[in-house]
Amino acid sequence: MSIYLDNAATSFPKPESVYRAVERAMRHAGGNPGRGGHRFSLDAGREVLETRETLARFFAVEDAARIVFTSGATEGINLALFGLLQPGDRVVTTSMEHNALMRPLYALQQRGIEVEQVVTGRDGIVDVSELQRACRVPTRLLAIGHCSNVSGSIQPLETIIPWCRDHGILTLVDAAQSAGHLPLSVARLGVHLLAVPGHKGLLGPAGTGFLYVDPELRLEPLLYGGTGINSTMRTMPEDLPERLEAGTLNVPGLAGLRAGVEYLQQQGPERLEARLNELVDRLLAGLEAVPGVTLYGPARGERRGNVVSFNLDGMDAAEVGYRLEQQFGICVRVGLHCAPDAHRSLGSFPGGTVRVSPGIFTRPEQVEKLLTAVALLGDPSARNDKE
Ligand code: PMP
Repeated sequence: MSIYLDNAATSFPKPESVYRAVERAMRHAGGNPGRGGHRFSLDAGREVLETRETLARFFAVEDAARIVFTSGATEGINLALFGLLQPGDRVVTTSMEHNALMRPLYALQQRGIEVEQVVTGRDGIVDVSELQRACRVPTRLLAIGHCSNVSGSIQPLETIIPWCRDHGILTLVDAAQSAGHLPLSVARLGVHLLAVPGHKGLLGPAGTGFLYVDPELRLEPLLYGGTGINSTMRTMPEDLPERLEAGTLNVPGLAGLRAGVEYLQQQGPERLEARLNELVDRLLAGLEAVPGVTLYGPARGERRGNVVSFNLDGMDAAEVGYRLEQQFGICVRVGLHCAPDAHRSLGSFPGGTVRVSPGIFTRPEQVEKLLTAVALLGDPSARNDKE
C-alpha cells in the first residue's frame, strides 16, 4: 500500500461522507441551481445554499452571500486581484507567495499596478515592522499567504490585518494551506478578501473553493455570463454572489465540500489540528536526527502548518522523491512547489526541497516509515545505487 504524504497539494483520501455526498448530489439533486422552478433545480439550489451557509458558519462570515464559489484558491485570488485593482494601485506582498498569487500580480504589473515584495527571513515569516514600512501611502492592498506551502511558516495575520484596516489598506489572504487546519475567523480577523480552496484542508473534492468578499468591496467579475437572474440586463447584476458566479456551479463538488466541512466540525478542528501538530513535530524531530538532513522554515516547537521541507546531502530533491516512491511506496512532492521566491528566502533555491505533508488520516506509523526510509536513503552504504 502506498503512503500518501502530499496533503499540501490536495487532501487524500477524503472522508467517506464526502464521496457519498458527491454521488448523492449527482443522483438526486441533478438540476441546474438557480435556473428553474422545478424540483430538480430547487434541490440543486438547496445543496448550493446549504454549502454556502455551512462555510459562512465555519469561517464566521456574517452574510453567506459574500461567499463566492470558485474552482479553487487560484481562481479566488485571480478574481480578487483582477476584480479590485486599477492601474496606479500599489500592492504589497511577500517573498513566500505561491505562483497562484505572484503570477496574477506580475500580469497586473504589466498593466500599471505597482507591486512591492517584502523578503522574509530564513524562517519564512515576514517581519511586521518591515511589512508596515512597505505598506506606505498610497498602498491599496496587502496580498499575503497565511501559511507557506513550502515551509509551513505562518504569517502573523492577527497583528498585520487589524493594522492594515486601521491604516485604510485592504487585505487579501491566500488561505490555501491554512483553511481547515488553523482557526480562521473572518469576523475576528477583519480580512477583506479570503481565498480558500475546497480540496485541501476542508476535505472537499477538487474543483471547489471560494472567495470571501467584504461588504465594502465591489469587484469586477472575472467571468461574464448567465446568472439565472436579471437576464435582460446587459451587465452583470450588482448582487452577490450572482455578480461573480456566472455559469453553472459545480453542485456535486459543493455537496462534497459541505460534507468535508461537516466532518471537520464533527471531529473538532482543534483536536485535528493538535493531532497534525504531533505528526509534524515527530517528523521534524525524526528528520533532525538523520545525518545529512537539512530542514527549512520555522524551528521545531514553533507554530507551523502541516508542511515539512528538507533536503538530503548528496542527493537532489527529485532523486529523494523518486526513491521514496520506488523503494518505499511513499508519495511526497519535490521541487519548487510553485513558489520559487520562497526558496530564495528559505535557502533552498534553485534545487527546491522534498516536501512532506501529513493529513488528518495520516497514521503515526506512516510517519515512522518515512523517517526510516529517509534514514536509509541518507546512509550511503544502504543505498541501492544500481536501481
Ligand atoms: N496558494 C497556495 C499557498 C497553495 O499551496 C496553492 C495550492 N498548491 C494555491 C494557492 C492554489 O490553490 P488551488 O489549487 O486550489 O487553486
